[in-house]
Amino acid sequence: MEDFKYVRENLIDMLEDLDERLEKITDNVKQLDEHIAKDFEQPITGKDNDESPDSLENEARIEIEKIQQAISRIDKGTYGICLSCGQAIKKERLNNTPFSSQCTHCAKKDDS
Ligand SMILES: [Zn+2]
Repeated sequence: MEDFKYVRENLIDMLEDLDERLEKITDNVKQLDEHIAKDFEQPITGKDNDESPDSLENEARIEIEKIQQAISRIDKGTYGICLSCGQAIKKERLNNTPFSSQCTHCAKKDDS
C-alpha cells in the first residue's frame, strides 16, 4: 500500500492535532467550572460558536476514532474501500476526508 503512505502520515498528523485540540477542550471544560461560558476563547473548530465544549469533545473523540480506524485500514490494505458496499471510495472524497470509511453513496444513505 505504498500509495497511501503519505495519507497515513497525514492521518497521523491529524491525530496529533486532534489530541492537542482535545486537551485544550478538556482544559476549557475545567475552566468552565469556574468561569462562565463567555470566557470560552475562540471556538476550536471554527464551525459553530454555539457548540458546547462537551459536543466539541465528543466530535474530536469520534474523529480520532475514525482516523485510527483509517490508519489500521491502511495497514490492513483495505483503505479506500467502502465498508458498506465494498466499492472503491472516490479519490476526491478521500482527499477531502481522508478517514472516510464509506463511499459518497453509502454515507448519504446512512445520513438520511
Ligand atoms: Zn458504499
